[in-house]
Amino acid sequence: MKRYSVFAVAREALRYHTGWERAWRSPEPKRHYDVVIVGAGGHGLATAYYLGKNFGITNVAIIEKGWLGGGNTGRNTTIIRSNYLQDPSAAIYEKARSLYETMSQDLNYNVMFSPRGVIMLAQTEHEIRGYKRTAHANQQQGVQTEWITPERVKELVPIINLHGPRYPVLGGLWQERGGTARHDAVAWGYARACSDMGMDIIQKCEVTGVRVENGRTVGVDTTKGPIDCDKLGMVVAGNASVLAEQAGFRLPMESVALQAMVSEPIKPCMDVVVMANTVHGYMSQSDKGEMVIGGGTDGFNNYTQRGSFHHIEETVRALVETFPMVSRLKMLRQWGGIVDVTGDRSPIISKTPVENCFVNCGWGTGGFKAIPGSGWAMAELMATGHSPLTEEFSMMRFREGKFIDESVAAGVAH
Ligand SMILES: Cc1cc2nc3c(=O)[nH]c(=O)nc-3n(C[C@H](O)[C@H](O)[C@H](O)COP(=O)(O)OP(=O)(O)OC[C@H]3O[C@@H](n4cnc5c(N)ncnc54)[C@H](O)[C@@H]3O)c2cc1C
Repeated sequence: MKRYSVFAVAREALRYHTGWERAWRSPEPKRHYDVVIVGAGGHGLATAYYLGKNFGITNVAIIEKGWLGGGNTGRNTTIIRSNYLQDPSAAIYEKARSLYETMSQDLNYNVMFSPRGVIMLAQTEHEIRGYKRTAHANQQQGVQTEWITPERVKELVPIINLHGPRYPVLGGLWQERGGTARHDAVAWGYARACSDMGMDIIQKCEVTGVRVENGRTVGVDTTKGPIDCDKLGMVVAGNASVLAEQAGFRLPMESVALQAMVSEPIKPCMDVVVMANTVHGYMSQSDKGEMVIGGGTDGFNNYTQRGSFHHIEETVRALVETFPMVSRLKMLRQWGGIVDVTGDRSPIISKTPVENCFVNCGWGTGGFKAIPGSGWAMAELMATGHSPLTEEFSMMRFREGKFIDESVAAGVAH
C-alpha cells in the first residue's frame, strides 16, 4: 500500500488525484483462516492489527454484518481518558491512551487525536470524595490526573455556570492529556493497516452460528457461507450475548441504547471536554464547530440504535444548567448505539468455556478510549493464551466474585 505523505499529496495534485488506491480491499471470504474476528468495530480491527503487527499472524478475517465502524465505534462522542480507579482498569486505559498519542504515525493515517484535556465535574460532596480518591489512586498508578478547584474549572471553561440551579460546581478531576480523536478515522486507519497486511475485511456478512466440535471452536456460519478457523474472537459489543448463546455459553451482560447528539456548528467556545455526571450531560466541541453532546443509557434492555425521548430532555436540561448558552443552540441530529454493560462496569476480555474461542465485550458506555489497549491485550491473549493486561478481566470473575468496580468512573460516564 502506498504511504500517505505530503509528497503523495503533491504527486496526486499534479495528476488530478487519479493515483489514489482504495484504502482497503473487499474480498470474498476464503474457506479457512487461522483467526476469525467477528465485528469490525474499533476493538475487532485493533485486535486484528496487533495480531499481525505484534505476532505476525496475518491469515485473519474480520467479519462484519454491516459496514466497518458502523457500530458504536462510529457512534460515540470520542472521549479519551484513563482516570479510572482500580489498578487493572488504569493499566489498560492508560496503555490505550498512550497508544493514541502515536496512533496517527503508527497507522500512517490521521486519526486527529486531540489531547485537549478532560474535566469530570464534582457537583456533590460525595463526588468530591470519589474524585479525590481517584486522583490519589491515579498518582500511585502513574496516571497523570489532578483535583482542581472551581476557580480553575472556570479558567479552563469560561462558558461554564458554576452556580447551577440544582448543583453547584465544587471542583473537578482534570486529566490534561485526555481528549478526543476522530472515531471513524480510528476504524478506517486500522482497517487500512489490516488490509495492507493481507487480512480480509468482509463486510455485509453476518455470523449466524458458531460451530463447536468436542468443546472446541471450528468455525462460524455466515450469510456468505461457512468459514473455518483455528481461533475465534467475538468482538461485537452489544451483540456479544447473542453470539455467546450461539457458542453455547452465557455472558453476564445487558444491552441498552445510549444516545448522543450534535448541535449546529458555532465559533470556537470551549477547548476542553467537560463531563457533568451528577446532572448527567457532557460536551466537547468538534473541529467543525459542532457541540458534541452525550446523554444517558435507556433504563431498559433493548437493541434499538435510537434511544428514548426522555433522555434527550434530561440531557438538554443538564447541559442548559451547566452551560446556559446551550439554550440558544439548534440541534442538528441525534442517534444511539447498543452498549454492552456488565454488573461491575468493567469489560470482559477472556477465554471462554469453548476452547479457542475468545470474547472481548462489556466496554459499555466507555470503550472508544480503550480501543488500542484492548486490541493490544486481546491479540496477546489470542496469540499466546495469556496477557498481563487481561488477567483480571476474565469472565470468571463474576463466578468468583472478583469484581472490578468502576461504577464511579464508568457507570454513566464515558
Ligand atoms: C452514543 C454513544 C456515546 C459513546 N461515547 C463514548 C465516549 O465518549 N468515549 C468512549 O470511550 N466510549 C464511548 N462510547 C462507547 C464506545 O463507542 C464503545 O464502547 C466502543 O465503540 C465499542 O467498540 P466495539 O468495537 O466493541 O463495538 P462496535 O463498534 O459496536 O463494533 C461491533 C461490531 O460488531 C458487528 N456485529 C455484531 N453482531 C455481528 C454478527 N453476528 N456478525 C457480524 N458482525 C456483527 C456490529 O455490526 C458492529 O459493527 C459511546 C457509545 C455510544 C453508543
